[in-house]
Amino acid sequence: MFYFPKRAVGRILVTTVSSTFVFNDFLLCCSCCGPVKAGQARIFWNLGKFPAVAVTGLGDASKWDELDEIDGAKENVRIAAAAGVRALSSNKMTEIVVEDMEHAQQAAEGATLANYKFQAFKSKDKQTPLPAVGFAEDASGKADWDRGVIIAEAQNFARVLMETPANHMTPSIFADTVKQRLSAANVEVLVHDEAWAKEKKMGSFLSVTNGSDEPARFLELTYRGSQDEKCVALVGKGITFDSGGISLKPSANMDQMRADMGGAANVVSTILALAQLKAPVYVKGFVPLCENMPSGKATKPGDVVYAMNGKSICVDNTDAEGRLVLADALCYASTFNPKFILDIATLTGAIKVALGDCVSGVFSSNNKLWEAIHEAGSQTGDRVWRMPLFKHYSEQMCDHNGYDLNNLGKGKGGGSCTAAAFLREFVPKDTPWLHVDIAGVMGDCSDQSYTGSKGMTGRPMRTLVEFVTKAGRA
Ligand SMILES: [Zn+2]
Repeated sequence: MFYFPKRAVGRILVTTVSSTFVFNDFLLCCSCCGPVKAGQARIFWNLGKFPAVAVTGLGDASKWDELDEIDGAKENVRIAAAAGVRALSSNKMTEIVVEDMEHAQQAAEGATLANYKFQAFKSKDKQTPLPAVGFAEDASGKADWDRGVIIAEAQNFARVLMETPANHMTPSIFADTVKQRLSAANVEVLVHDEAWAKEKKMGSFLSVTNGSDEPARFLELTYRGSQDEKCVALVGKGITFDSGGISLKPSANMDQMRADMGGAANVVSTILALAQLKAPVYVKGFVPLCENMPSGKATKPGDVVYAMNGKSICVDNTDAEGRLVLADALCYASTFNPKFILDIATLTGAIKVALGDCVSGVFSSNNKLWEAIHEAGSQTGDRVWRMPLFKHYSEQMCDHNGYDLNNLGKGKGGGSCTAAAFLREFVPKDTPWLHVDIAGVMGDCSDQSYTGSKGMTGRPMRTLVEFVTKAGRA
């Protein structure tokens, strides 16, 4: 006789390529329909105390092509855990326990990222309840599992921030939400207002908020996990809605621009995860938050504004606003004399043209930091690819008669590269710096089954956590 508990508990097992194996003294046989393929799940019903057991395929990690630049063993575990969670959850299991799959952290990441659904604005009675996902009692690596849960839940937090409609995620609401969530995790959160930004002479940042009725905010976050003298500075673009301003965007898919604060969401969720993990690093976050809207007060194409470092900028296209808010944030971050600065932004559509939706573009003035973030990406499965910082691009931004910089490049093409060249003008030359363009991986990505193919992703925050944990200590 089988034992059926009242709770609908499902369990995920994992298989490599064998078609029969033993679970709780039951011989499971997949011979009739073949072994479970990588990334797929097959459910066996009523096995002992578990009403349902999902067997998921791990595949053969050694088959990964090195050109794919990914740790296949870890990635396959994320994919398998996600497949198991989805299979059991769609069969109404209310509790799911997961095996360690020999990579407990990655199992937790895949399971937690797959167990996510944005339904905050749906009537309560129409919402789909999500199962509770936990670690199998007899599995090993509980500390790794907990680590994976912390990181993936922080990524899910970034996804919620990005997905939430812009009228429910204004600069003020974003700031309040972050203050509430991160203060509880021992992160100091300062919320600066427009008067503060004026005092700091952040004319470039403030020029973007001119057309909006929503007041701008500037977040300054501090997590002190070490007594290092120098901090790691993370800077994130926080445009809570980008209409393009007077250089108005076309209306199709403009709603996606609620997620133009994806860089900000990445910075916030990375610091949240580092604090919860008690990572031994000293990190500061700088997040300029505002809307980019057209109105009688909005910045007009051709207007010239001044950034905090005194450089004058001609705003030729008001839709190239991310670099304007980042310029001042980079200047302010530099005043702390950080170990290095990483800025992250949904900056250019051009990066999606160049790289598609599976990898973030990274520009770096420092080879060691590039190598470290490159390695971090292959470990987390959220990869990065290096882009150029040639003088050629800087000349396109800086070679003008009437002002120091233009926010648009002179030439055709290379929009991500000229944007990076623009930002470089606001980082002191002796400060190591990385710029991460995430416009391609912002939402609806087709490459990671565990984050799903629809909705905002919060990517690549797991790579930032991995990178800062290592590079921040070096
Ligand atoms: Zn824009």
